[in-house]
Amino acid sequence: MEALSYINGRWVHGADLEHPKEVYNPSNTEELVGRWNPVDQGQAQQAVAAAAEAFPGWRDKTWVERGQWLQKMADAMAGTRSELGLLASREMGKPLGEMLGEVDRGVALLRYYAGEGTRAMGEVYPSQLPDALLFTERRPLGPVLIITPWNFPVAIPIWKMAPALVFGNTVVFKSAEWASLTAARMLQIFDQVGLPPGVLNLVMGSGSRIGPVLTQSAQIRAISFTGSQAVGSGVAQAAVTHGARFQLELGGKNPAIVLDDADVPTAVERILSGALRSAGQKCTATSRVIATPGVMAALTEALQARIKELRQAPATEQDVFLGPVVSAAQARSIEQRLEAALSQGGRVLCGPKASAHLPPGHYIAPTLVDHAPVGGVLHQEELFGPVIGLFAASDPVQAIKIANDVPYGLSASLFTRDLDLALYYMRHMEAGLVRVNEESAGVEYQAPFGGVKESSMGPREQGRAAIEFYTETRTLTVRPSC
Ligand code: NAD
Repeated sequence: MEALSYINGRWVHGADLEHPKEVYNPSNTEELVGRWNPVDQGQAQQAVAAAAEAFPGWRDKTWVERGQWLQKMADAMAGTRSELGLLASREMGKPLGEMLGEVDRGVALLRYYAGEGTRAMGEVYPSQLPDALLFTERRPLGPVLIITPWNFPVAIPIWKMAPALVFGNTVVFKSAEWASLTAARMLQIFDQVGLPPGVLNLVMGSGSRIGPVLTQSAQIRAISFTGSQAVGSGVAQAAVTHGARFQLELGGKNPAIVLDDADVPTAVERILSGALRSAGQKCTATSRVIATPGVMAALTEALQARIKELRQAPATEQDVFLGPVVSAAQARSIEQRLEAALSQGGRVLCGPKASAHLPPGHYIAPTLVDHAPVGGVLHQEELFGPVIGLFAASDPVQAIKIANDVPYGLSASLFTRDLDLALYYMRHMEAGLVRVNEESAGVEYQAPFGGVKESSMGPREQGRAAIEFYTETRTLTVRPSC
């Protein structure tokens, strides 16, 4: 596949000819999946200008009409489910079953936000003025920039662009380098519905080269960013300098706390799903398991036994629990942090060397490490890979303290049958998603999503919460003329 960017309703070859990209399948690096060329800074500016020019026309369409467009986008995407899922799986290594589920999620998100075109968008208030009508309405902001990571190549772009569009904003979509083929194919699918030129633009390119041009553009009125902490803070600074609204969804170091009374088989299944699906490359992935003394031995044994049964294979094969990680650089970064954790006292119980029978690819076997210190690398840093750190706590209160003792606060889970302890945890756990007897990963699109502490900044994403970010409220008063 030769992927192109999409600017002002036209497919364009990226003009940055010095940095052509070839995409090799992370499950088998001998397989070339496609090619693309990054846009240059001038093309990035053209995309912003196109979104700015298209804005008044798009804003002035009815909410209902914009919702109908989203409905058509959903239909078009549903019709290409298998093809899009397969391409994404080959591009970034997510197991095909999971990837198809993600495409379904994308379709559901589009339909949900299509519905927003027919829901209430303001409130009526009693006025102090006789016979006055006092009410609010929501207005779009203007051109918005969405910057996305590679780990949910379909769902994250859609959960940003769908609300942006239905509420009347135009969009510049800066896709992740490792998910560009998928982004371009998605835009081809959406192109079939005939959106007006400039309403939705895609620029594929390196974040460090075109990111500043996009984020510093005064025409951009809001930036929705999902990615790493390091990049996100620069994006926020750029937004503030020209008064654009911003929203950051960043990393996580998500705990699963297992208490003495937990049902161990259930806890093990949900922890492994949370930690190892997508090879641990989810912001909500479980990366720390914290257990109290009465359950530690049984839990450790059960985790080890079950990890040995998990099937790691090329992402496009059937019944794969986990495939490769996305890139050689990602694999190196995980291995380096793991080495640091071992040098701090960590002991490997499973992994990380993958089976020699796998094709050449970026595989790291599911890895379980105990004895790493609280406060050390494995306890504090996001590895973004299939690595679980096992930590001991003397009692439930200390377990929650160890869980909270990190800069992040995205998601957390607790396994117990004790309602009082569950309530205590729900009150004290510092996380945006607080779950009991459920894995830390897994998001429902109709409910608000986001973290606390350094995991997020700005209004929540998804569900009805998205209207807070993508619109501003006006208060209107009308009185009889005499
Ligand atoms: P990243 O920060 O490297 O890149 C994210 C995006 O930012 C990419 O599109 C990249 O090209 C772009 N970018 C890079 N430099 C830029 C710059 N100077 N200006 C503007 N844009 C720039 O992150 P990644 O490696 O793609 O994704 C992994 C990270 O994302 C992890 O930390 C993970 O936890 C996080 N993440 C968070 C959530 C969430 O909802 N909280 C969801 C998924 C991933």
